[in-house]
Amino acid sequence: MPMNAARGSLLGIEHLEAAEILKILKFARRMNPDRPRPLLKGKRVLLLFYEASTRTRSSFEIAAKTLGAHTVLVQAAGSSIEKGESLLDTGYTVRAVGADVIVIRHPNAGAPHVMAQHLDVPVINAGDGLHEHPSQALLDAYTILRNKKSFKGLQIAIVGDIFHSRVARSACHLLSKFGVKIILCGPEELVPEVAATLAPGIRVTRHIEDALRGTDVVMLLRVQKERLSGLKIDLPEYIARYQMTPARLKMAKKDAVVMHPGPIIRGLELTSEIADGAQSRILEEVRNGVPTRMAILARAMGRMR
Ligand code: ASP
Repeated sequence: MPMNAARGSLLGIEHLEAAEILKILKFARRMNPDRPRPLLKGKRVLLLFYEASTRTRSSFEIAAKTLGAHTVLVQAAGSSIEKGESLLDTGYTVRAVGADVIVIRHPNAGAPHVMAQHLDVPVINAGDGLHEHPSQALLDAYTILRNKKSFKGLQIAIVGDIFHSRVARSACHLLSKFGVKIILCGPEELVPEVAATLAPGIRVTRHIEDALRGTDVVMLLRVQKERLSGLKIDLPEYIARYQMTPARLKMAKKDAVVMHPGPIIRGLELTSEIADGAQSRILEEVRNGVPTRMAILARAMGRMR
């Protein structure tokens, strides 16, 4: 975290201590999206989105409102960003307008860190380039702990486009801190060998059977077609080797759960039977995004007590 980032900023998982992660998750369990808790009454939460978003944006907005805050959404399209205003000038502007906390999604890795270094308000990273997506990792951890007793002895298989996935990066950092066995699976172009060095306890495999054997949690990732230019990915071959199907899921533990940060592409990384099946926790993850982000926002304002 930049030295002068405001207390309560959440820029990534890599440098967050395990105890702090558990504190956030514990507080999130006390949050009920159906019961307003005015912990942020009168505060202004600025949602600065330079990239498309459905789940992250809407759940931060609902979380902020449930805590009694006002929200303002600024999207790249239709704002001064389109006219060429720099990241920092936009930051100074939203601060001058009265933002108490800034939630930012940006295509460049490190953009939230730059913002945090120069502004005196907490900054929350809602996804920066290929780098991190900390609130997603926290809601995924929350979901895992709702479905499994603890992280102890757990094995997770993360299958798909790991190279382009900030979700995978943040998940690996988080789960590794708790000793979870992590198996990354996919073709070389999407899962380079070097991915195993991201955090302790990670192994890379090209074989889906190998990844699924003994696995408690299967996390699927979207093949990010919009970022594939220059990569040689044969989608029919990807489907043949890695698509999650009911027959494949049987290779994992009987009580394995399937997760996916969304957006899901039916017929590519998973079939509809998997997406809508009894083991799917995909919509539960979306729901869990609200209490988790309530905790993140309360923490940002020093109200996580
Ligand atoms: N929604 C996630 C993200 O913004 C994953 C994805 O886009 O595939 O990183």
